[in-house]
Amino acid sequence: MTTSIIPGIHLTNVYHILIDTYGELHNDPDFDPLGGLIGTILSQHTSDINSGRAYRQLVDTYPTWEEVRDAPTYKVADAIRSGGLANIKSIRIQDVLHTLMEKQQEQGGDKSLGDYLSDELDKLSSEDGWKYLQQLPGVGPKTAACVMLFNLGRNIMPIDTHVWRTSKRLGLIGPSVNANQAHTVFAKIAPPAWVYMLHVGLIRHGRQICHAQKPKCNQCPLYRECAYTGSVNPQETGIS
Ligand code: SF4
Repeated sequence: MTTSIIPGIHLTNVYHILIDTYGELHNDPDFDPLGGLIGTILSQHTSDINSGRAYRQLVDTYPTWEEVRDAPTYKVADAIRSGGLANIKSIRIQDVLHTLMEKQQEQGGDKSLGDYLSDELDKLSSEDGWKYLQQLPGVGPKTAACVMLFNLGRNIMPIDTHVWRTSKRLGLIGPSVNANQAHTVFAKIAPPAWVYMLHVGLIRHGRQICHAQKPKCNQCPLYRECAYTGSVNPQETGIS
């Protein structure tokens, strides 16, 4: 695991401009990776409001993850209906819970599923924990990175559409690097302590200024950094 990364000048400039623009943002992990994983599955393809409501309904109906695992799937789907794609997400959630149960049974353990996952991840480096989560059914690199960062405070960069687009335009990752590869690139170039701020700052920047269509380059605090990497030109940005 790389723990002492010296960032390049360009990344350093981007990092400080993001802080100046959006404020210095701090992570507040709850150290509940299983709750975070279920919540992240529920958040797929819906708003935070809807997924938050679905999560609360699920834990109100079934106070333990073991009860969610053992409930009839259609009843789990009913409990999370407000989060959308309930029939798919209920199967996915129960698959994850059954897989964790089987992993623990192979080791002869009898902890709660939440404690089991926490303890397994505690044994691993951030990168290995990220890979471990991806072995669970239906868990991809972004979902695994969200759990590592937001629930455990482990500095793996989740790459969503905003982070990926803005990182490419700013030249933080190469033009042909895909979203899955970008996780690995950031692990090499970004100091761990910067990951949360970079992630949240780039999302805000993508939502507010660097839109997919017609980015507001003429209002962009990162314009100089973008010009430095050659991204700012009429063809690529739609500036007229
Ligand atoms: S200059 Fe334009 S393309 Fe570059 S980061 Fe800013 S808004 Fe995005």
